[in-house]
Amino acid sequence: MYDAIVIGAGAAGCTAARKLAEQGKKVLIVEKKKHIAGNCYDAEDEYGILIHVYGPHIFHTGNERVYDFLSRFTDWHEFRHEVVAQVHGQYMPVPFNLHTLKRVYGEEKGTELEQKLVNVYGMGTKVPILELMNHEDAELRMIGQYVYDNIYVYYTMKQWGKKPEEIDPAVTARVPVNISYDNGYFADKYQGVPRCGFTKMFENMIDHPGICIKLQTEAKQVLAIKEKKIYFAGEPFAGDVIFTGPLDEFFDCKYGRLPYRTLNFVFEHFEEDDFQGHSVVNYTVSEEFTRITEYKHLTGQKCEGTTISKEYPLAYTGENGQIPYYSIANAENQKLYEAYRMEVSDIPNFYLLGRLAEYQYYNIDVMVEKAIELVTGL
Ligand code: UDP
Repeated sequence: MYDAIVIGAGAAGCTAARKLAEQGKKVLIVEKKKHIAGNCYDAEDEYGILIHVYGPHIFHTGNERVYDFLSRFTDWHEFRHEVVAQVHGQYMPVPFNLHTLKRVYGEEKGTELEQKLVNVYGMGTKVPILELMNHEDAELRMIGQYVYDNIYVYYTMKQWGKKPEEIDPAVTARVPVNISYDNGYFADKYQGVPRCGFTKMFENMIDHPGICIKLQTEAKQVLAIKEKKIYFAGEPFAGDVIFTGPLDEFFDCKYGRLPYRTLNFVFEHFEEDDFQGHSVVNYTVSEEFTRITEYKHLTGQKCEGTTISKEYPLAYTGENGQIPYYSIANAENQKLYEAYRMEVSDIPNFYLLGRLAEYQYYNIDVMVEKAIELVTGL
């Protein structure tokens, strides 16, 4: 009855399903939650304010193919995303840049240090914090230490339960030190959120006669692997399966649970029209939560009152309702992941795709690009 099964209706699953359907395949999407859009899911709260239920998601890309593909399903509320850190009562631009440098060291010393940074790295470059901290020049190390102490160490301890130097360097390199006067969080050409929300964009994407969707259904309810063969609804299945869910859970965590960080979001509503004047404020030296998002500044919604969320990170245990947000990249976890991957690695029509199924930290645009690439070959 179906040519392909897609497990999961997030960015990866919806993109894959759409491309398969456009290639003439009859596709079934199976989603465990009661909604589509994965962690990009947004919806109005009880006050009519559009919130991102699983935390702030901002689309950003320099990839024309991805931008063009998504633009078939939405218009954009385009803006350049800026973040500030709350450091001892002051707001400072993050990533740390030349504005922040002058704010910290004053005009005269700041200009001198700027010269040095530009001479060493060049204007417009991005330097990972751990690199700056290990530089042979004492003044550059001093800047590095300041940024480490005031922007990274406490935030990273809250987010990951570990110091910046103890986690995968690729994670902190996502937010480098910028040798520029650009306060933007991302450097990409296209930045913004779908004008009517992410959920609507993905709804439009999977609105195709070749796509059916089953919500509130676990992969295990419909799909099984026995002796390296795929079974769908109890029958052998010869079509393609694109699996975007957690692989450990599909195999009943038989080798142990893959470690993740999860988040607890606490939403608050205020009658005043503006809470913090910014979409995202990172709390880098104080508080138990990592950041506060004020959604109207992110979505561009004009409304009375405002809704914010505070984000509390914690270890994922797999308890009911907890969501595996961030995979934790290290050798031990990769080995455990490989054990699960081997369970499906030689099944030619079974594909792993996405943050969960690949146990990787992906942005939305990379996800869409990978989904398009995978399906184009099928
Ligand atoms: N980070 C930090 N301070 C900040 C922002 C980021 O220490 O103010 C570090 C932290 O370890 C974080 C990582 O950089 O997990 C990546 O940040 P990003 O904003 O990309 O995380 P995401 O939005 O994906 O949660």
